Amino acid sequence: MKEITDLLASSNHTIIYTGAGMSTQSGLPDFRSKSRGLWEKFNPEELANVKALNNNQEEFTDFYRHRLSEVTQYQPHKGHKILATWENEGLIKGIITQNVDGFHHDAGSKNVMELHGTFRKFHCQECQNDHSREAYLEGDVTCHSCGGIIRPGIVLFGESLPQDVFLRASQETLKADLFIVLGSSLSVTPANMFPLEARENGAKLVIINREPTQFDMYADYVVQDRNIKEVLIEMDQLRE
Ligand code: ZN
Repeated sequence: MKEITDLLASSNHTIIYTGAGMSTQSGLPDFRSKSRGLWEKFNPEELANVKALNNNQEEFTDFYRHRLSEVTQYQPHKGHKILATWENEGLIKGIITQNVDGFHHDAGSKNVMELHGTFRKFHCQECQNDHSREAYLEGDVTCHSCGGIIRPGIVLFGESLPQDVFLRASQETLKADLFIVLGSSLSVTPANMFPLEARENGAKLVIINREPTQFDMYADYVVQDRNIKEVLIEMDQLRE
């Protein structure tokens, strides 16, 4: 861990990449994990997609109101706050994330690239007007301007990733001389290509994830079987 921390201190452009493992220590369950309430009532695989938004609006809305009420019960943890502090001090330049919980924003991070969108924002599927998250949670799920359906600002299965965010993430990746993956199994394409792009462009690559990933062989350092929050706390202490 000391070597990784030294690497962080000596790098000029460090980019962090976070996945589900970053948020689990906030307590927020991954919606894919089946041993929980959401699955008793809904089948997320049938609802978290663009078909359900178009053809099964009532259940789609019901599902996302439930999911939103879960997300709002949890908060960023110490690890999210450490990343925000590091950015503030210039130690890291940005965070690319697969997470939609908005915890990096909530913790105070500024340059956050949310590849799969965010649960912090809602808008009308028809006219794109913004809609309040609180109103959605309370059951106000119809657009006040055009009567269209309100949806979360996340990327559903069947939708493409937001191009502007993707482009910005690519640019940051190419600038990176250190790229650190935190809590991602790197199994989702094309989002998982960033670490490899960084590596091919000459950056050092660090992969910190509980399980092995398919990109471990390209990494300069691999850390496994560790909780991300504790890794960040340890690194933060080591640099002092
Ligand atoms: Zn509308």
